[in-house]
Amino acid sequence: MPITNCQRCGKKCQSGIGNPESRPFHRASQGLCVNCAITEFFKTTEPISSILEGLMYKTDQRILLSPAIQEQVGHILEAGNCDASLEEIDWSTVVEQWELPFPKSRRRAHSSTG
Ligand SMILES: [Zn+2]
Repeated sequence: MPITNCQRCGKKCQSGIGNPESRPFHRASQGLCVNCAITEFFKTTEPISSILEGLMYKTDQRILLSPAIQEQVGHILEAGNCDASLEEIDWSTVVEQWELPFPKSRRRAHSSTG
């Protein structure tokens, strides 16, 4: 498996051909590490992005450290046969890098309709 640097945070990540059926994202499909891929998913996928925005308005990004939230995300990944597992996600990094911008040159691979 080739190693590339994440286009958002620069972290080394494994690229390669992911399972195309994997949802909500698949491995290295966009040159993002798993933490950034899940962040993009959270930010661009309705109704999740609106729900999270509402929760974060009351608290902040640390809501993502909640086991209840992580459990729900685990269900989403499982239901989608996602290449990434819940264990691969570093939640404290996701929280720390929440405001980090995504590379502008990238085209969004996912449409809002999925
Ligand atoms: Zn990253």
